[in-house]
Amino acid sequence: NANDSLDTELLTIDKADVAFFTEETDIKRSLDYAIENNTVEVFFQPIVDSQTGKYVGAEALARIKNSEGKILSPSAFIPIAEKNGKINQLGKQMFKKCCDLVSAASFKELGLSFININLSPIQFLRNDLEQSLSSFIHESGIGSDFIHLEITEEAMIDDYQMQRQISSLTELGFKFVLDDYGVGYSNIVRLRNTPFINIKLDMSLVWDYCKNPGTILPTEIEAFKKCGFEITAEGIETAQMAKIMRDIGCNYLQGYYYSKPIPYEEFIEKCKEQK
Ligand code: C2E
Ligand code: MG
Ligand code: MG
Ligand code: MG
Repeated sequence: NANDSLDTELLTIDKADVAFFTEETDIKRSLDYAIENNTVEVFFQPIVDSQTGKYVGAEALARIKNSEGKILSPSAFIPIAEKNGKINQLGKQMFKKCCDLVSAASFKELGLSFININLSPIQFLRNDLEQSLSSFIHESGIGSDFIHLEITEEAMIDDYQMQRQISSLTELGFKFVLDDYGVGYSNIVRLRNTPFINIKLDMSLVWDYCKNPGTILPTEIEAFKKCGFEITAEGIETAQMAKIMRDIGCNYLQGYYYSKPIPYEEFIEKCKEQK
């Protein structure tokens, strides 16, 4: 039995390793459990229009609970899921739940225009991606243009298979958002002819600029907007940061200043309050 062999293994390793070992094992078990039992939860973090401060969309973020009911951070379980391939099932579960929730609460009537869903580059290694995403869309009855797919730059450009999938998803009506801009090698020249409609500035870039304005960021944003991209700033934690990023041209803002990622019911309440 798996538990017995695990206990024997634990006895043979150094005490200092135990905390890490058990933690990683706990994360793996919780991940498997959540996937098998369809209990991956969708949390929503609002995205606001920088001019009005009103909610216009949200990012869907995955949450799972461990055996003690504690919520685990995606930065702990997503890399594991990517390594062992479970990200495919997790990604599908997130996508399906998201479409169903959007449809059930008629997000449009709550004043929202889009929901951003993160896709891992690993999901593009499967050739059933387009098929499964479009069937979830059809089952829920929402429009594919309501779903914005967030991918990071590692997931794009150079891979032919992935480019082909991105074009066919674009033809199906999905929109693409470049996540975490500023931590990799992307720049305006590389991004010019890509299907992205929106570029999300990574939190680190936003924080650096707010601490130390006077870099080329405003020039970069202006150039991006001339090429037709909209800009979202992540990691907005204060009113002052919101003002700074709005003033340099960001269209959308997201961060703890507006709300942390929250469960569906709470998110719906907040949407109604601020409408
Ligand atoms: P991300 O896609 O860049 O998501 C933004 C992360 O920044 C979220 O962390 C969010 O809670 C956090 N954040 C937003 N505003 C603030 C702020 O003002 N201050 C601070 N300190 N943090 C802020 P979270 O939910 O822990 O997710 C971490 C990463 O895990 C995500 O980064 C994304 O790469 C990945 N992830 C989450 N859910 C999914 C999913 O369903 N599928 C895939 N493939 N990846 C996911
Ligand atoms: Mg994201
Ligand atoms: Mg991001
Ligand atoms: Mg990130």
